[in-house]
Amino acid sequence: MPETLDAIFRPQTIAVIGASKKPETLGYKVFHNLASFGFEGAIYPVNPKAEFILGHRCYHSVLDIPGPVDQAIIIVAKEWVAEVIDQCGRKGVKGVIVISAGFREIGGEGVRREEELLAKVREYGMRMVGPNCMGVFNTDPDVRMEGTFAPTQPHPGNIGFISQSGALGAVVLELANHLKLGLSLFTSMGNKADISGNDLLEYYQRDPNTDVILMYLESLGNPRRFLNIARKVTRDKPIIVVKAGKTTAGALAATSHTGAMADLDVAIDAMFHQCGVIRVSTIEEMFTLAMAFANQPLPSGRRVAVLSNAGGPGILATDALISHTLELAEFAPETTEKLRKMLPEEASVRNPVDMISTADEEDYQAALEILLADEHVDAVLVIFVTPILVKSFDVANKLAQVIHEHPHKTVVTCLMGHEGILSGVEELEKHKIPVYRFPESAVQALAAMRRYQDVRQRDYGKIRTFPVDKPAVREIIERARSEQRTLLYDDEVRRILISYGFPLAQARAVKTVDEAVEVAREIDGPVVVKLLSKTITHKSDVGGVQVDLRSEAEVRSAVSTIIYNVQKRFPGEKIEGFLVQEMVKGGKETVLGMNQDPKSGPVLMFGLGGIYVEVLRDVSFRIAPLTDHDAREMIESLKSFPLLQGVRGEAPADIEFIIENLQRLSQLAIDFDEIGEMDINPFIVGARREDCKIVDARMVIRDS
Ligand code: ADP
Ligand code: MG
Repeated sequence: MPETLDAIFRPQTIAVIGASKKPETLGYKVFHNLASFGFEGAIYPVNPKAEFILGHRCYHSVLDIPGPVDQAIIIVAKEWVAEVIDQCGRKGVKGVIVISAGFREIGGEGVRREEELLAKVREYGMRMVGPNCMGVFNTDPDVRMEGTFAPTQPHPGNIGFISQSGALGAVVLELANHLKLGLSLFTSMGNKADISGNDLLEYYQRDPNTDVILMYLESLGNPRRFLNIARKVTRDKPIIVVKAGKTTAGALAATSHTGAMADLDVAIDAMFHQCGVIRVSTIEEMFTLAMAFANQPLPSGRRVAVLSNAGGPGILATDALISHTLELAEFAPETTEKLRKMLPEEASVRNPVDMISTADEEDYQAALEILLADEHVDAVLVIFVTPILVKSFDVANKLAQVIHEHPHKTVVTCLMGHEGILSGVEELEKHKIPVYRFPESAVQALAAMRRYQDVRQRDYGKIRTFPVDKPAVREIIERARSEQRTLLYDDEVRRILISYGFPLAQARAVKTVDEAVEVAREIDGPVVVKLLSKTITHKSDVGGVQVDLRSEAEVRSAVSTIIYNVQKRFPGEKIEGFLVQEMVKGGKETVLGMNQDPKSGPVLMFGLGGIYVEVLRDVSFRIAPLTDHDAREMIESLKSFPLLQGVRGEAPADIEFIIENLQRLSQLAIDFDEIGEMDINPFIVGARREDCKIVDARMVIRDS
């Protein structure tokens, strides 16, 4: 329920429990911030040892405060927090912000203490931010609540920030102030015992003052919920996330191809992509984007005009545009004519426009107006390099004027140089015009805005559910578990795949060479004979796969070859038997994989390559559940996708059928989180669905 967070962000009365007179304490800093930011409601310091704090009458306990209290900010020693929360509960407080540390983050006793807090919060139906956080603020003029111990006072604005790290939160506040970026809401989440990033996203989406959401994340609590919520939020407001990227160790030890390639970071990237979240790698980049998103409209297309007073920067900007899949706008004829008339002969009036170094503020004004009027231009990048005679302040001032008069077209600016441009930069920042020091950053911001425009309009597709035989799969998994096996036998894997409606190549397991010959006779056309072993999982590595056998003699000799190859490598190895399988011809080898990541849930993989998949690494990832749209993107995003479409007269592969099978895999992964890894490799795909067959697969059950 996002409304319940009103007790956190829009309280009418706040008690600061542990408020203090001593300026060096957090209890002082929080109370001081709250009092000096001009909170619109009543604030009560609570401290048994003081009578007044900063001129406010002090209470010994929250229970002594006359009248209702909506919110309590708690900064007492960790041992007292539970009791204080209990008092708050009795007082009818609805939201608590626990700044005190010494909980889950210290392990052991701290974990237990945090559980106790959470139990009390739940018992009284309260909501809690923290513990171990830096606090919360809301700059809404009707609220004006600054409940943090940050040293900087926030500027009101339209950016909402959510931080998993208190220290980084403080840094961001300072930087935002420096860049004159205003903030609406701020939350330092701390240990997220009760209120999670997901809850906050929902609340920020509804907050009328917030247009852009920034997050600093170290971990994701419930990724599937994040996916659902973020999909809704990003339709409405952009979410820009800095997520510290960590790779999980041990990926190399995985038995499946998917396990070896899908690390946690890949999963998170996939997830952000699936819900339209913009992931950046640094705080700097986060600000680069935030500055533009917060203050400029989204460009309606990818055609960019570059306006500069020098040639070099225009070329740099052009290169950056192209590498970000933006385009140089082709001007309307009247645009070029008008520019030609106003500019000196040496100027270049084609895009990128180079007005040369004599261009002054009047020229910038006139040229920008001309470009903004051109219907072939979706966005303008204005570049200004340190001139000799022209003042950057004057140019900035004029630019700001023109930009404010055209609020519907995207403009970003770039002032290059140092001393000479400082006053210009300041002037643009003051007028909330995105201003960058390098054309590449400006282009990066434009490109992100352009991509986000697509996100808002995108169709996320549908999740399809197929009729399947769940009990059959359950039984196989339970048997394996009761036998303490993690690797499933080949016949078990095949039964699971059949239960979920996958197309399997016709095959039968046999014990002897005579049986192999008999089965081969029953199968139409050439066959393949493969080693069946409980220990050797990569069969072709040991010469255990013999393909395209066309006669009884070839089948017999294939069996002998396999026995010989295995004995040579593993003397004394017990061969369980052989799989005789129809030979699937004429298709492309693809791989469908799944890796159950303990943090993000099932990660699905699609790629081309059969036994070469790890060499080519042309694979894509998404997290389950997969919509048809996700599945299609997985396929189309491969570098080798043209191979599936058919090159040099080949018939295209049945893409729709691959999509269907990826969705079946998604369903299987969601239904059984006991399955840790799956590798369908190869799934041989042909032009018609009858020609598409799985010829090999393996599955690993997780340790329970
Ligand atoms: P493994 O992955 O254990 O080495 P596979 O069963 O995947 O064994 O076989 C390895 C390769 O042999 C496949 O990538 C494919 O090229 C070929 N192959 C295996 N079975 C068939 C089949 N039934 N039809 C066509 N080619 C096959
Ligand atoms: Mg294989």
